[in-house]
Amino acid sequence: MHSVHDIASYDITGKGFDKKIEQIVRVCHMNYLIYIDRLIYKKFDFHVYVSLKSSWRPKWWEKLKKRSGYSPHTYGYLGATDITCDDYPENWEILLEYLIKHTDYTRLAVYHTKWVDKNGKEHQGGFIHGDYQNECNDAYVYKVVGGTWYRDYQIERR
Ligand SMILES: [Zn+2]
Repeated sequence: MHSVHDIASYDITGKGFDKKIEQIVRVCHMNYLIYIDRLIYKKFDFHVYVSLKSSWRPKWWEKLKKRSGYSPHTYGYLGATDITCDDYPENWEILLEYLIKHTDYTRLAVYHTKWVDKNGKEHQGGFIHGDYQNECNDAYVYKVVGGTWYRDYQIERR
């Protein structure tokens, strides 16, 4: 589990950020996530994490992984973070509620994942992808079905 309080949790390469990128990570992601982690822990006694250190994924890393390099995770604009929490299948709705209420992400895409370990036991997990891409400065929650995003509902803030 990668703590939202540790800047290294936001760097999938493990090699460190460009200074400019680090500033965006702190202002647009880390500060919000530290804040909601504190609120959620106080009220519900569970923690929020960066999923698989998936925030900054530079173009060269994406290319290495045979990805397009056009992902918002490359921080061409304000970047993206995949956010998870303790016992996600139980707690994801609380996490989503706090992301809507206490961040300015314009896209929140809810992922539910399932995998089977080597003993044949099934596990469930997932994460919520948050970013700032949107055409008209409006905000939506997306549900993800088979990797494809569908607009679920609009986020009303203020
Ligand atoms: Zn993502």
